Amino acid sequence: MSVLTRVRGDITAQRVDAVVNAANSSLLGGGGVDGAIHRAGGPEILAACRDLRAAHLGGGLPTGEAVATTAGRLPARWVIHTVGPVHSATQDRSALLTSCYRASLRIAEELGARTVAMPAVSTGVYGWPLEDAARLAVAAAREAAEGGAFDELRFVLFDERAYRAFDAVDADDA
Ligand code: ADP
Repeated sequence: MSVLTRVRGDITAQRVDAVVNAANSSLLGGGGVDGAIHRAGGPEILAACRDLRAAHLGGGLPTGEAVATTAGRLPARWVIHTVGPVHSATQDRSALLTSCYRASLRIAEELGARTVAMPAVSTGVYGWPLEDAARLAVAAAREAAEGGAFDELRFVLFDERAYRAFDAVDADDA
């Protein structure tokens, strides 16, 4: 089985070592996948985020970077929060989206997480076109998988359209 996998579903239900969260810079919660993770994981996650803000992220987490906290009541052990770029029609921010996956998976590796679930960062409120986001996400995950540190890197796509976009990237490369 390939290290890279994809499922259609809810990321909060995944039995993996670490779950990546498409957070916002404040780390204090939001809508979409961020809201779902905080709701399902409980207040421990928000408390850990507040501690990080107070300790060394006073200005918030910069776009393209990542940071880990407890996963609270989620089946996972860690949540890795990353801040995706808002899509821009006039500026190429692809490197920042790639950086979200690279930074998240670097932290996962440091923590010893061998299975990681990832959402399609930036494809909700932040407006990134799905096909392009899928291409960047899969390329970054593939590169991270090459080191052999992971048993499974699972993209968890919330709806059929997102699932098909990720599926198409793999089919293109087959
Ligand atoms: P962003 O602000 O980075 O765009 P969003 O949370 O708005 O983040 O959306 C990112 C992606 O996560 C979207 O494709 C959205 O459909 C998806 N999503 C929303 N809720 C969940 C969930 N519970 N599990 C997995 N993916 C989700």
